[in-house]
Amino acid sequence: MSEFADAARLAYVSGWAATNGPFTDQVRAGCAAAVALACEHDTEPGVLEATVRLGELEGIWAEVYARRDALVDERTRLAATAWTSLTVTADVAGSVATFRRRLALASEATDPETRDRHRAEAIAAALLLLSGIVRDRHDPKFVALATLVTDALRAAWAEGYAGALALAAHQAGHGPVDVAAVFADAYTDHPADPALAAAVITALIRAAAGDVAAVLARLADDGADYDEMVRSVWDLLDDDELRALTVGMDVAMGSEFARAGLSLYREHGAQYVDFVTVGGALVCGLCMDAESAGPYPIGGAPPPPLHPYCRCVLIPTSPLTLDVFPYLLGGSR
Ligand SMILES: [Zn+2]
Ligand SMILES: [Zn+2]
Repeated sequence: MSEFADAARLAYVSGWAATNGPFTDQVRAGCAAAVALACEHDTEPGVLEATVRLGELEGIWAEVYARRDALVDERTRLAATAWTSLTVTADVAGSVATFRRRLALASEATDPETRDRHRAEAIAAALLLLSGIVRDRHDPKFVALATLVTDALRAAWAEGYAGALALAAHQAGHGPVDVAAVFADAYTDHPADPALAAAVITALIRAAAGDVAAVLARLADDGADYDEMVRSVWDLLDDDELRALTVGMDVAMGSEFARAGLSLYREHGAQYVDFVTVGGALVCGLCMDAESAGPYPIGGAPPPPLHPYCRCVLIPTSPLTLDVFPYLLGGSR
């Protein structure tokens, strides 16, 4: 991890240096957290982009991003616990046995065809395995996962709304807003959406099945035995940092942050929005292009996140006229 950690630390520190701020304990703690985050996700595109952004943020921006990251971390951890308690019932042994039996029956082809066959059978086996886990929608363990994801999305919407209001108030020259108070009201006003959560869980299952299928196909290509296949699938399913789940939660909650912001801007008659990245050399090309192509009519902007761990936001091109009086901290400036 060390080479990547160094790059991430450098990215964070150069982001901090651009602000001319003091290197306080808080900055030091932020650096360690950003480096840990970057190392956890070092295979994801745009991870250094997120790292430099976290280091550069000040004031209300820093608060909005710190709150978002804490919320995503907390809810992802809860969902991961519910997920692993659900997957302990998975029939990994049966699925691997079926996978191997079907391959043996069918293996007579030349190399590329055999590999294609491995892939196709692996996808079938993985989908069957994962759909088995969620077959019973009344299983209390499934209900627990669905409830957690539903509430995570509701909270993400409220957080997105609160953050957007705080940023829009800052943009319009108002004093600092009590983000927690806005969050509480937005959470109360925004109904839970179990159907959205069900769609997110379906996507999580598909992504996890894709990861399981990739492992099975690779092991079949390598001529691995039954025990190794079972062990490898369990290693993947058991992992409470399962990539499919952490990425899926990041994208689903990120999408709610953006949707809530757009809802606030629409409420206040915004016509155009800008797509905003941190800037600098480490932003990925996709996000850079999205930024340069703005401003966009409010219905036509590319909705963040453009990829997992994308931290870009949409902000109104012209400051909004807002009544933030009830939420101002310590009176207006
Ligand atoms: Zn990007
Ligand atoms: Zn981005």
